[in-house]
Amino acid sequence: MTRLEAADLYRFYHVGDDETRALRGVSLNLRPGELTVLLGRSGSGKSTLLACLAGLDDPDGGQVNVGGERLSRQPEVRRARLRARHFGVMLQSGNLIPHLNVLDNARLTGALLGQRDTGRALELLDEVDLAHRKHAYPAQLSGGETARAALVAALAHGPALLLADEPTAEVDAVTEDRVAGVIDAFVRQGGSALIATHSPRLAARADRVLRLGDGRWQDA
Ligand code: ADP
Ligand code: ADP
Repeated sequence: MTRLEAADLYRFYHVGDDETRALRGVSLNLRPGELTVLLGRSGSGKSTLLACLAGLDDPDGGQVNVGGERLSRQPEVRRARLRARHFGVMLQSGNLIPHLNVLDNARLTGALLGQRDTGRALELLDEVDLAHRKHAYPAQLSGGETARAALVAALAHGPALLLADEPTAEVDAVTEDRVAGVIDAFVRQGGSALIATHSPRLAARADRVLRLGDGRWQDA
């Protein structure tokens, strides 16, 4: 069972003379079998936090540990290796490869990890009502289809930790329940999920709700 521990994260962006303090001392632990929902207005630091937790970005201060190993302030190659071993990551910036279709995107990480059976990819596409789009390319998908395809691509290889940014963006309530069902099943099987969302329906299913405001925890 893999734990994610983040302590006192700081992340500052500098553009010209301007400094944006995107994270200002954020600590967080993710435990197996727990769905944590991350709320916060646009610009509050949610994407920055997810990127730092996944090792896609490096915090300017603080530390991230996954499975007892340090992830932050490590060379990019080492972060990438830890990411592939432990995480499924679904970000707004898109984790889909443009020249692979939806099904091949969903099979990609498993194939890279040497998994022989990539049948889970098609099962998951079916569970989020996307099986009929399996041969479509990312550029052909609607916003809601893109979010679901990216979520499936994050989950199909069976990671212990799921980090997702708005997985139910631009979907109707019925489809949202299907996406939520996939996330629930992941957590019930012992996974840890941190989901950034504006959806009250998704937040209602959480074991724990955290709220970011201006790069810090607010009272949830
Ligand atoms: P732990 O695993 O130690 O319980 P948590 O991940 O629950 O850690 O919380 C990490 C830190 O974030 C703690 O210091 C906690 O006080 C703070 N925190 C979590 N949620 C909130 C909140 N809603 N408001 C203020 N602080 C919070
Ligand atoms: P959210 O995901 O909650 O919308 P973000 O993490 O994207 O928040 O952004 C937090 C703050 O950091 C915002 O003020 C945003 O404008 C700023 N920011 C994010 N990424 C960059 C970047 N690459 N360069 C400069 N500022 C950034």
